[in-house]
Amino acid sequence: MPRRLSLPILYLFFCLLAGCAINPVTGDEELMFMPEERDAVIGKQYAPEVENQMGEKIDNPQLQNYINYVGQKIVRVSHDRDFEYHFTAVKDKSVNAISLPGGYVFITKGMLKNLDSEAQLAGVLGHEVVHIVARDTSNMMSNEIGIEILLAAVASDKTPQGVLQAADIARQILSLQYSRDDEKVADLGGLDYMARAGYNPSAMVETIQMLQKQNEIRPLEFFSTHPSPQNRIEYMTEKIRKTYHNLSNLKDGKEDYHRTVIEQLN
Ligand SMILES: [Zn+2]
Repeated sequence: MPRRLSLPILYLFFCLLAGCAINPVTGDEELMFMPEERDAVIGKQYAPEVENQMGEKIDNPQLQNYINYVGQKIVRVSHDRDFEYHFTAVKDKSVNAISLPGGYVFITKGMLKNLDSEAQLAGVLGHEVVHIVARDTSNMMSNEIGIEILLAAVASDKTPQGVLQAADIARQILSLQYSRDDEKVADLGGLDYMARAGYNPSAMVETIQMLQKQNEIRPLEFFSTHPSPQNRIEYMTEKIRKTYHNLSNLKDGKEDYHRTVIEQLN
């Protein structure tokens, strides 16, 4: 009687066909359809259109430099992916932050206005950097939209049809939802990144509490796809208690944040 293929054997077949990669954040082997080199190509192609649909860049070089400075501090302590990272503040009033494959992070004016310190900003950017390092976005885009479609639009580039197609794909990218597991990994990995970059990880718990309050007023984009806020607060508080024993030397950066961001947005 032929034996049925065991799960590990089936998995191996898939890996040979599609390619498996280690997720450096979790250490787990994952099935990846898109080769890593494609991430930056895809991200670069769709970043302008995503930026456009999020209300364009906030026109304040000093503010943009500051967002990028905090983002690059996170990148320096993250798992090395050899991506070039770009952090951009956009005018969208919704409370949101998103990432594209290969190192592109966007944070909205709505989110920036609701944060209260540099450490809170570092927490949100750290969460997004984990999505990029773990290749959650590229995995989701290749699963939900399809590599052929993504690359076809890259190939057609600047033709009118290509531009239309890129706009359509950017809309789809903005509506993609991560799994709860991916979100939890981004939350916990983000705490590590921000602490290693010198920021107090408790600030991320404050951010979730702020988002929870905002979400009671009206549902938030950044929130809708994530695990329940209570759940997030619990697992993050638990990790902070167990992992980080001396938080007193870590930075909150409330004054810097207010001077460089909040006062500029009013
Ligand atoms: Zn997320």
